[in-house]
Amino acid sequence: MQYTTESVWQKFQDFFKKKGHLLRPAAPIIPENEASVLFTSAGMQQFKQYYLEPQKAPSPRIVSCQPCLRTTDIDEVGDETHLTIFEMLGNFSFGYPEVSGSYFKKETIEFAWEFLTKVLNIPPERLRVTYFSGDKEIPEDVESKKLLLQITGLPQTKILPRDREENFWGPTGESGPCGRTVEIQMDGIEIWNLVFNEFLYREGKFLPLKYLGVDTGAGLERLTALLNNTFSVYEVDTLKPVEERIAVPSAKSRIIVDHLRAITHLIVVGVFPSNKEQGYVLRRLIRRTLKAGLDLQLREGIYKELFSLILSLWKDRYPSLQKKLPTILTVFEKEQQKYLKVLKEGIEEFQKLYQKDPNRDWGETAFYLYTSFGLPPEMTFEDVVKLRGQLDLESAWQGFREAERRHRETSRADLRRFKGGLAGYSPQEIRLHTATHLLQAALRRILGSHVVQKGANINPERLRFDFAHPHKLTEAEITKIEQLVNDWIEEGLPVEKVEMNKEEALKSGALGVFLERYTDKVFVYTIKDKDEIVSKEICGGPHVKNTRMLGRFKILKEESSSLGVRRIRATVEAGKILLKSI
Ligand code: ATP
Ligand code: MG
Repeated sequence: MQYTTESVWQKFQDFFKKKGHLLRPAAPIIPENEASVLFTSAGMQQFKQYYLEPQKAPSPRIVSCQPCLRTTDIDEVGDETHLTIFEMLGNFSFGYPEVSGSYFKKETIEFAWEFLTKVLNIPPERLRVTYFSGDKEIPEDVESKKLLLQITGLPQTKILPRDREENFWGPTGESGPCGRTVEIQMDGIEIWNLVFNEFLYREGKFLPLKYLGVDTGAGLERLTALLNNTFSVYEVDTLKPVEERIAVPSAKSRIIVDHLRAITHLIVVGVFPSNKEQGYVLRRLIRRTLKAGLDLQLREGIYKELFSLILSLWKDRYPSLQKKLPTILTVFEKEQQKYLKVLKEGIEEFQKLYQKDPNRDWGETAFYLYTSFGLPPEMTFEDVVKLRGQLDLESAWQGFREAERRHRETSRADLRRFKGGLAGYSPQEIRLHTATHLLQAALRRILGSHVVQKGANINPERLRFDFAHPHKLTEAEITKIEQLVNDWIEEGLPVEKVEMNKEEALKSGALGVFLERYTDKVFVYTIKDKDEIVSKEICGGPHVKNTRMLGRFKILKEESSSLGVRRIRATVEAGKILLKSI
């Protein structure tokens, strides 16, 4: 009989309910009331406070199935066992020994063993367990070792000590509950982690916790795949049909299958692609999908079918998702339209560069392709490996970071050379600086070419721009201006810098104010949309390389500055640009 993920989850919940556990629904994939983490990445996350305050738990025993998103595993995706989004089954206990009904190591190990060998009938020969070996700070988990010997009946050779790296969990952050773990492996693959919260880590010390807690996590896809004697998570019922629809299985088709599921979950909770936080991850997932799709020469329309298939495969566990297909498609397709073109250009540029010199500095080249076309660097490296057979990844990443550092330093040196009115040069100020150019350009298009700069000032919170204009701006004008700037940002326009004589620069049509501040040589910054010049200004810089790095532009306030001069305060919400990641 083939197991489905749904059937394994049913057996899991039935079993733990019989053992007195309360079924709790999954938490949203974006945690509520927790700004410090972007995503739910483990079943225990929503129950964290119960470990410290067990009285607040609705029951001392809980069971759940939690969709988890782990951006840390994104580079692993494509192997047999790691997804960015997967479902984690778990049983939990709080308040041991004081709260009645709570349990600790003995029951946890008994439950897990009984479920695997009696309910799922896994032959014990396929199982192996590990426990914490002990180190200078924390003693060996002799209790778990003893319990494992008694309960599992496995030979000693299959009950193995492991170090801190493998069999110790937490704390998440600077301080908090943590403890030794027992891991269960099936056919050599980790399927279930049993965490025993027994210490409070604080100020470098492991203190005993008042209440002991249990937190377990079993990967539903891994468990189901192994039960069916397949070794890849992509073989399970919720993933396989999607992969089959794409093409011959490969690392790339897996990236698409996995990422589309994660994209689905993010869009339905209201995340939009952007340059920060969750929106940034969504954008990265979409781009990686589109890039993999281009490599596999998929039809552009295939994504619609794939999303619809994903939803239908998940209809038992996530019935509410079914109605969301139109939203998912709207968000995805908008991003697709926006990026497919630049990605294609980026891929062409890559091919050109590769043909010119396959042994070029790929770190630096990846940085260029990333800043100008949004090509994910890890995918550039992958393509090099595919074409050339090898690439020293470590030095490639090093080269990438070096180029990034040089880019930052050049921007600073420029600033020292020409005091262009910029007080500081934090990344946010640099973004605001480029945003100022776009703002002036938008004002001139929407209000007229009488708009000229009368003053500007930037601090890390906002830009301030004064300009000649006779009346107060209407709401509609403000909206249009914002929209136009955001369109340019989203187009991902390159920002070019050329050094010229002052005279020459003015003759070329570059706008400039406070020219007496500059020496004879000036920089001209040009932002172009294809052949059309969006903005051309004499300026000391520094600026971002591509408008895409700005994030979202927002006008905060419009007011009078003096007679015939208006003042706008605006900002960009860029968040951090995680370089390793797009
Ligand atoms: P691994 O070492 O294999 O990455 P982990 O130590 O990160 O696993 P835990 O954090 O203990 O795993 O998560 C509990 C369980 O969730 C694991 O035993 C595994 O079955 C499953 N799991 C973890 N990460 C993934 C993933 N990226 N994709 C699918 N299942 C996963
Ligand atoms: Mg892991």
